[in-house]
Parts: sequence; C-alpha cells; structure tokens
Amino acid sequence: AQRTLVLVKPDGVRRGLAGEVLRRIEAKGYTLAAVELRHADEALLVEHYAEHAGKPFVGPLIAMMSSGPVLAIVAEGQRVVEGFRSLAGATDPTLAAPGTIRGDLARDWGRPVIENLVHGSDSPTSAEREIALWFPAL
Ligand code: ATP
Repeated sequence: AQRTLVLVKPDGVRRGLAGEVLRRIEAKGYTLAAVELRHADEALLVEHYAEHAGKPFVGPLIAMMSSGPVLAIVAEGQRVVEGFRSLAGATDPTLAAPGTIRGDLARDWGRPVIENLVHGSDSPTSAEREIALWFPAL
C-alpha cells in the first residue's frame, strides 16, 4: 500500500492536538504503520526540508520544528499521500478551509504560515525519502 509521512509539528503537540490528528487519520480509514514522539535534531530537519534550502522561511521553520517534540507518523492506504494533504488543508492556516486539520485547528500566532500544525509528504517519492529519514528501520 502507499505510505506517507505525517508530522504533528511542535505547535500541535504543545497544544494537545496530536491525538486529534491521529484520530482524523484513523477516522478517514488509513492505517497507522508507525507512531513515535521525538525531538528532531537540526541535521534531520535540514535533510527533511532540503528542497526548501535557501528560502527565507527555512531558518525560522527549522527553529520552530526543533522547539519541542514532534509526533512522527507513517500512515498507509490507497492514495494516502493525496488523501492526507486533503485532510490537512492549505499550507496557510489562516486560509485553510474549515473541515480540514489546519482550517479547523490552526491559525497564525506569530510569524505567518510557519505554525500550521502538520506536515504531510507531497508525493509518493518524497514520502519514501522522508520515511527512510525518520524511520530508517521501516
Ligand atoms: P508540508 O510540506 O509541511 O506538509 P506544505 O507542503 O503545505 O507543508 P511547503 O510549501 O512544503 O508546504 O512548506 C513547508 C512548510 O514551510 C510549511 O508547512 C510551513 O510550515 C512553512 N512555510 C511554507 N511557506 C511559508 C511561508 N511563505 N512563510 C512561512 N512559512 C512557510
């Protein structure tokens, strides 16, 4: 089956929303293949966000991502990569549609867009790359 990497970002864990994100993934019918709370170090995050290297928001993004623990999740199911991105909603939490994770549960607090609760792989290829990074044993 297809797999995707979902991260509940530190803002989500801090706000007690990790369970709510898991609940929505399960309620949609996807299977959990791995779930682990962990504090990501900078090296992992630089690798994880390699495609954004050089963009102005990468420094603040990595600082936010290493500000506390992240819940790393591997979810499985047919078309789960697209399916989770649809559950998550638009990147900008202020604009994300109601009914989505970001639309229902996130908004801007500090710097715009940075804190948007979740990450979801953007293609099956990046999903496999990211899963290898976060869960080398899977
Ligand atoms: P993700 O890859 O985390 O699921 P995404 O695909 O919706 O999110 P990307 O464009 O890949 O968004 O950006 C990765 C992350 O970088 C976003 O989730 C957000 O936290 C942050 N980000 C993206 N664009 C901006 C921006 N213009 N300003 C600040 N932060 C941003």
